[in-house]
Amino acid sequence: MSSLQSNLFTQLADTEHEQVVFCNDKETGLKAIIAVHDTTLGPSLGGTRVWKYNSEADALQDVLRLSRGMTFKSSISGINLGGGKAVILADDQTIRDEFFWRRYGKFVEKLSGKYITAEDVGTSTKEIEYISLETNHVSGKPVYLGGGGDPSPFTAYGVYLAMKASWKKVSGSESLSGVKVSLQGAGHVGQYLIDHLAKENAILSIADINEANLKMVADKHKVIILDPKDIVTSDCDIYAPCALGATVNETSIPQLQCKVICGAANNQLANEIVDGNAVKERGILYAPDFLINAGGVINCYSEAIGVYSREKTMSLTDMIYNRVLEIYTKSENEGMNTQQAAIAIAKERIQKAKNLNAKW
Ligand code: NAD
Repeated sequence: MSSLQSNLFTQLADTEHEQVVFCNDKETGLKAIIAVHDTTLGPSLGGTRVWKYNSEADALQDVLRLSRGMTFKSSISGINLGGGKAVILADDQTIRDEFFWRRYGKFVEKLSGKYITAEDVGTSTKEIEYISLETNHVSGKPVYLGGGGDPSPFTAYGVYLAMKASWKKVSGSESLSGVKVSLQGAGHVGQYLIDHLAKENAILSIADINEANLKMVADKHKVIILDPKDIVTSDCDIYAPCALGATVNETSIPQLQCKVICGAANNQLANEIVDGNAVKERGILYAPDFLINAGGVINCYSEAIGVYSREKTMSLTDMIYNRVLEIYTKSENEGMNTQQAAIAIAKERIQKAKNLNAKW
């Protein structure tokens, strides 16, 4: 914990975070960090991730990276939300029952709407329902409570559209029939994405550390199952990271076989400048993660602004196809990598909103 304490404000200054809240509850064993990155465009929204981190410093780094990504995601998607995220530090002893989640809901409530929570890895509509007993600052509620439900199908749909646009960019055709896709992580998003790709007759290789998820997919579709350690560098046209971040890094990049990287995971590039440039130099097209996986946050936005509308979610998610092509053009014209091009567009919208606020 000492390195975490000694340079905390330097980290916050570097990443331009507004607020970080550490939540500790002895009774339930809850340990959480909520990070509010930027609220220029609206209240910060981002899911709550449950993960067994190697250290508290790792948990902090994760929540800072993820919340910053949420700011850019909402901005580039044209929705009126800021960026936030929460992580819960999991261990083998703590029982995460209704009262654990209600206690967490009370912490979210204390932020008075500055942070709106939703699902992420390790949370589902069930946990969201418990949280919603203590706060209204929550999205992704079950459909029977008037919510938009699990955001994963919308995230998967946006990634699928981005994959078609990216394949069109490299091959001239948006059809994924016969295209070899290697997908890492057959969880919530991964499985919906596989449904789209199988319908289009893509050739699918998948890997997961969870046998049950692999079986679920293999029972439904014709897929090749690979060892998790081989999937990133497997022989494919498109690599789709749909598990956790930082799989595109200095070790994997020289070994990548794909022409396109396009998946749902957040923070796929271990270093957005160095690794973004390295994939570009290798002639691999990288679809910016926070742009293409925005379907889920768009669905949460649809719910958070009033009466939930599936049509509104779909029409905003459809825009990902053209937006990703625009980013590729900007990247080519301005000599920057695709992730930097997307960040530049996201930052521009936030800056314009800041200028507007300053004048009035
Ligand atoms: P999930 O937990 O349902 O699925 C993740 C899957 O990855 C699990 O099946 C897990 O077993 C597998 N996995 C973990 N480590 C692995 C490894 N080393 N190799 C292979 N498989 C591994 O999560 P999800 O909701 O499907 O989200 C997937 C990713 O997409 C996450 O990075 C998440 O932050 C991101 N994302 C999700 C949404 C959403 O709507 N759910 C929205 C935006 C971004």
